Amino acid sequence: MKQWLESILRKEPRVQRVRHEVVAREVTVADVRQLGPHLLRVTFTGPSLAGFVSLSFDDHVKFIFRTAQGDTVKRDYTPRACDPVAATLALEFALHEHGPASDWARQAQVGQVVTVAGPRGSRILPLDLDWHLLIGDLSALPAIARRLEELPAHSRAIVRLRVPDEAARIDLASQTDADVQWLTSDEDLFASLRALPPLAGDGFAWAAGETGLMKRVRDMLAGECGIPRHAMRVAAYWRRGVADFHETIAE
Ligand SMILES: Cc1cc2nc3c(=O)[nH]c(=O)nc-3n(C[C@H](O)[C@H](O)[C@H](O)COP(=O)(O)OP(=O)(O)OC[C@H]3O[C@@H](n4cnc5c(N)ncnc54)[C@H](O)[C@@H]3O)c2cc1C
Repeated sequence: MKQWLESILRKEPRVQRVRHEVVAREVTVADVRQLGPHLLRVTFTGPSLAGFVSLSFDDHVKFIFRTAQGDTVKRDYTPRACDPVAATLALEFALHEHGPASDWARQAQVGQVVTVAGPRGSRILPLDLDWHLLIGDLSALPAIARRLEELPAHSRAIVRLRVPDEAARIDLASQTDADVQWLTSDEDLFASLRALPPLAGDGFAWAAGETGLMKRVRDMLAGECGIPRHAMRVAAYWRRGVADFHETIAE
């Protein structure tokens, strides 16, 4: 059977990939806001942001800054919100111990200058699916919060967030009546995935967070949850004990 016909019969979600010319932009901190004890939103501004485009909640930019010791550090962050007209870009930093980017966020002040480069590409997941399953830890919360804001009102969104404690909950704006659970242990997360409501029709599971956790999430989604590999993306956003880590798990 021809490949295109097979793909129609299997109703693979139409994930569209768009490449962008990578532009490095010098930006200035315009606002710093604490969102609960573990998450900090920093809004940047600058004329270079006039042409900034982020097509997907799955996008990332390289956040490039200098430490107090003069080292240049680059880390990946999700464009949480951008307004090319107002020339602003917001990133949200999960605060954790011993990380230069997290440390930078803790000391961020209005007027500081850093560089953001990218996004290099966008993986655009369709909006018109029967269900959207979103799973992540604090590092993926900015992407998931953005996705929830972007989903149209009729969407069925199921969100499972692995957070350090109850205080990590933040308000999630959405037109959808999302089924959101905040889970404070891995055991609770996996129990909640095991007990997912039936996922009928065509949907997509998107998950991101700590590598070890995400490998278990991938195995459970593909195994017990019966979600086909083409209908999921599971991304490693960081790895416990490893600095500046990069790896792809499943897409
Ligand atoms: C595509 C993509 C998008 C991302 N978007 C975001 C985002 O929007 N917001 C966000 O906060 N993160 C995001 N991340 C994750 C972020 O890039 C990493 O957490 C990064 O390692 C943080 O850099 P750092 O300098 O603070 O720590 P590093 O120098 O990289 O690591 C130092 C130590 O901290 C640990 N560590 C790193 N990250 C975390 C964490 N989140 N929690 C606990 N311990 C950690 C490491 O295991 C290591 O032991 C994203 C990652 C990717 C790949």
